[in-house]
Amino acid sequence: MSLTTSPAPRPAGAPARLWFETLLLAEGWAQGVAVDIAGGVIVRLEPGTAPEAGRERHAVGLPGLPNLHSHAFQRAMAGLSQVRGPSADSFWTWREAMYAALDRMTPEDVEAVAAQAYVEMLEAGFTRVGEFHYLHHDRDGAPYADPAELGARIAAAAGATGIALTLLPVFYAHGGFGGQASMPGQRRFVNGLDGFARLMEASARALAPLPDAVLGLAPHSLRAATLEEIAALLPMTAGPVHMHVAEQTREVEDCLAFSGRRPVEYLLDGAAVDPRWCLIHATHMSEAETARLALSGAVAGLCPITEADLGDGIFPGAAFASAGGRYGVGSDSNVRIDAAGELALLEYSQRLGNRARNVMALAPGRSTGRTLFEAALAGGAQALGATGAGPAGVGLAVGAPADLVSLDAGRASLAGRSGDGLLDAWIFATRGGGVDCVWRRGDKLVAGGTHRDRAAVEARFRASLTRLAG
Ligand SMILES: [Zn+2]
Repeated sequence: MSLTTSPAPRPAGAPARLWFETLLLAEGWAQGVAVDIAGGVIVRLEPGTAPEAGRERHAVGLPGLPNLHSHAFQRAMAGLSQVRGPSADSFWTWREAMYAALDRMTPEDVEAVAAQAYVEMLEAGFTRVGEFHYLHHDRDGAPYADPAELGARIAAAAGATGIALTLLPVFYAHGGFGGQASMPGQRRFVNGLDGFARLMEASARALAPLPDAVLGLAPHSLRAATLEEIAALLPMTAGPVHMHVAEQTREVEDCLAFSGRRPVEYLLDGAAVDPRWCLIHATHMSEAETARLALSGAVAGLCPITEADLGDGIFPGAAFASAGGRYGVGSDSNVRIDAAGELALLEYSQRLGNRARNVMALAPGRSTGRTLFEAALAGGAQALGATGAGPAGVGLAVGAPADLVSLDAGRASLAGRSGDGLLDAWIFATRGGGVDCVWRRGDKLVAGGTHRDRAAVEARFRASLTRLAG
């Protein structure tokens, strides 16, 4: 594995002394909060203080959000598939374009593109990424000498940019339901169970240099993995288990034709789905499937911007959340990387589908922004196995990782707002991020909205994209 093209990974855990005019703690908003950070965690939180000399002052602070579903390499094709084709465009025509784009990517390209995606995630206020990583082999489909060569490139990009990584190596064996043969465009993804076990071992080695990385795994979908294979995969990790399911109506039709059951129904009947699981999309569910998934304790991994871009459909958000379902958000295809934008579009899709307002807030008097933010924080942490998240499980508390975001309080959209009104204004009324600073384990990675290594990372990304387009 070569790291020579990356900036050196930075030592995490820098001590820091911060002060926030208002800060969203695990138990709620607090004013005048002194925050001491050592060894990457918050060691002191004291509300009701005045800022003393030597303390770095900020106006509005939040915990960093988890981005529970990313395919980093797809950032290289963002904006490329927006021209209408000869027949009706769909997810499936987009997938052909995606296969063509990744055909030419080298390990250096994967690392350069992932680093750019991670810089943009940090600048948006995401502090941990769940990388659903299915690009494993060389361009001709042959394994690399290190089976986790490309996973190591993802780990290098995370180490260099500072984002926390939950790596989810993807098991991909088939091209359709019932164990159909894979297609030529899938040759860089495909493994048998033995090859996948070797990939998992190599992936664990690739993550070893990162201070708080998590290793899970991901059967790609019910098209690409059988129930028998899924059962054989589960003992290979104690970490999270992610899977794409019911993103497209054609998948529902194919699953019905194959099994007589709908995809989520088929999965819940045939696999031990529990809080370790995250079902990505779960867009097309019956009422019964929605209630059963909520009851399972698994997280629904929603990717509103990508789902809108691909024309997937609308998740049954109101019914799922009313049944106590847990959810979080992901940037998936990375066509646009925008934490607040994912939350806004999640709510807006519900409003359009239900012809109602403030759908996800569920109860009278609750802020939609606060409800969405806290659901995404808790659901994302669960889905990414982000343990050590403080006594309350998630959010900012003594003992929690010092992963913080400050908003750009100079934005006119935040003028006169306080408490939950700040979250509502950030999510629904602020254009272009609105983030000022981002700390990871106390290390300030983003200041003034810009990652400290953006120039170098972006130069390599531009060089890769220019070469890939040539
Ligand atoms: Zn995906």
